[in-house]
Order: sequence, then C-alpha cells, then structure tokens
Amino acid sequence: MKIIAIGQNYVDHNYEMSSVHPENPVVFMKPDSAILRKNRPFYIPDFSKDVHHEVELVIKINRLGKHIAKKFAHRYYTEIGLGIDFTARDLQRNLKEKGHPWEISKAFDSSAALSEFIPLSEIGHVQEIDFRLDINGKTVQQGNTAHMIFSVDEIIAYISQFFTLKIGDLIFTGTPAGVGPVAIGDSLEAYVYDHKLLDFKIK
Ligand code: ZN
Repeated sequence: MKIIAIGQNYVDHNYEMSSVHPENPVVFMKPDSAILRKNRPFYIPDFSKDVHHEVELVIKINRLGKHIAKKFAHRYYTEIGLGIDFTARDLQRNLKEKGHPWEISKAFDSSAALSEFIPLSEIGHVQEIDFRLDINGKTVQQGNTAHMIFSVDEIIAYISQFFTLKIGDLIFTGTPAGVGPVAIGDSLEAYVYDHKLLDFKIK
C-alpha cells in the first residue's frame, strides 16, 4: 500500500505558512514504514528540533482505479479516519529553500500516525466533516472539510491520473491552520465530531 498526501489544501493553513494557493493539488508520498498505529507513542527523532503536528482527514481507498473521473470518485472510498502528518519543519524549510524534494522531512519512520477507520455513513458527507486536534486538553487545530481547496473527489481524480490507486491505499487530505511543534510529554487527542479517534503521547 501507499500513502499519498496533499499539502497546502486549506486556505487558513496557507496563510500561516505564507504559501500561495496551489493551482493543482500539491502531492507527496509516505512509505508504509511511516505508519504509526494503535495509539503508540511518537518518539521525536534526533534529526529535528522542530517536529510539527498536522491533523488531517484520511481516506481509505477500497477499489482499484486509474484515471478516475471526479463524478465517480466517491465510489472509491467508504471509510475515513484521522492522521497526524508529522513534519520536521526545520528540515522541510531547508529543502524548500533549495527547491529540493521534501521527502525526508515528511516521510520518515512514524511520521504518519493513523487512527482506526470508521464508515463515512456514520459521519455524514465527506465535505462537511468537523475535526480537531487537542494537545494536553487544549484545542490547537480545528477544521471542517468544507474548507478544503481541492475536495476529496477532486484529489482522487487528480492523483489517479498519475498513480493507480489500490485497495488499502491512504490519502492524507491536508491540514487546517494551527500547526505547531510537539514536545516530549505532550498528549495528543484527535476527534471527528465527538468520536475520539487518536489518543497518544509524544516521547
Ligand atoms: Zn500535511
């Protein structure tokens, strides 16, 4: 399986990062070795002094597809979850300045914390979902998928021109504003509405 992630997909996050709104989805990938499951702790790696949290809605692909039209894209997923796209911001800043790919800052081991998946039918429309991240009991990121620049179906249509989507592939759909560093001892809890999907510690 593969993890495809979308950057700069919420207007408010782009303002905080001084990024321009992209013309097309900004796409990067994480390998399966990046997955951190079952609320295991996240250990801050020693190559970064500035690892940021990015809470994101995650889509699980349930059918094989290539060149998927936007109007059929909704047939390719029935479950959603939450993820944290951990980002070594100091490394990413350096790489971006040089115009280099930012993979090592985004795709390192345990950089994709993942919740269990829940049926979308229990939650509602994919473009009307409230989600948030609390750290030590305080809400730091709050988003609604209505504010995505590229919708889930637009993302699937776009990326499937380049990559065959397979059963079990995951799409991280971008983060709303409020990203910031994590510190040893932090307790992260992420919610879709009142469903607590992530609850783990930073070590
Ligand atoms: Zn992200």
